[in-house]
Amino acid sequence: MSPPRYFLPRAQSTLVGLVALGLALIGGLPSASAASWTVRSQPARMVNGGPLLFRVKAPAKLDALTASWLGHQLIFSYDTSTKTWFALAGVSLETTPGKYALELTGERADNHSPVTFTRTFPVAAAKYPKIKVELSVEKKFTEPTPEQQEQIAEGQKIKQDYLNRLTPDREWSGKFDAPAEADISDVFGSQRIFNGVAQSPHLGLDFRVPTGTPVAAMNSGTVLLARPLYFEGEFVVLDHGQGLLTLYLHLSEFKVKEGDVVKRGDIIGLSGGTGRATGPHLHVAVRWQGTYLDPARLMQLALP
Ligand SMILES: [Zn+2]
Repeated sequence: MSPPRYFLPRAQSTLVGLVALGLALIGGLPSASAASWTVRSQPARMVNGGPLLFRVKAPAKLDALTASWLGHQLIFSYDTSTKTWFALAGVSLETTPGKYALELTGERADNHSPVTFTRTFPVAAAKYPKIKVELSVEKKFTEPTPEQQEQIAEGQKIKQDYLNRLTPDREWSGKFDAPAEADISDVFGSQRIFNGVAQSPHLGLDFRVPTGTPVAAMNSGTVLLARPLYFEGEFVVLDHGQGLLTLYLHLSEFKVKEGDVVKRGDIIGLSGGTGRATGPHLHVAVRWQGTYLDPARLMQLALP
């Protein structure tokens, strides 16, 4: 047996050494457990605004695995075909480039003792279009009347309430599909200007579709919202579980109601130009635990 890395004064009881060695063997000490954990991200290059999939191979059989990542709590699922734990996560648009820690905590299947492991990942800066486009929008969206301001406040209250709900169970499975087969008219992260006033970055993906185009659920989930809001127009939100939502804006017709369970590809509504829209198009957004992620990058992920 090779000598332990931590040499203790001979005067101390060898029991201390044995206990320390025992801890090292069950993964209590990073030096001993580091070699046996495998932690990967997809894509390998992380950027701000990007969703990602963590895959973890643990050194022992676990009952459960959770992690802390950029202030978010991740709940991992077990993929029996690859014998790996996986969780969807993301990096907010506001995250600055740097190194960030994924702090894993597992529960051993045999003795229910906790095992921990930390790995840091570099986050690079994504290049989002800086092209400023002058768009003209009706005055009711830039200078709303007191009555319209009330409707706006009501919409914000509904979003504050519903969009921050977190259902613990994962409902999504497999890849996220495009909600419509159409050209992209505006990408995620671009800067826009309405009537000369700079707005926050575009937090969704726009599809160039005429009114009445069927809009499909990007993955399986439950209909969290299906109602008209001031800016969003006819608005559908799907809850895919674990804080992952997909949002479909400016629809002309609902094909689902709140509480319905949908599968990937199910038609949830027809596209339109309701709410704050310069014309008919489909705006799709991906929200993960309160932060908006790039839908195009999500659709590129190969998911279990
Ligand atoms: Zn949009």
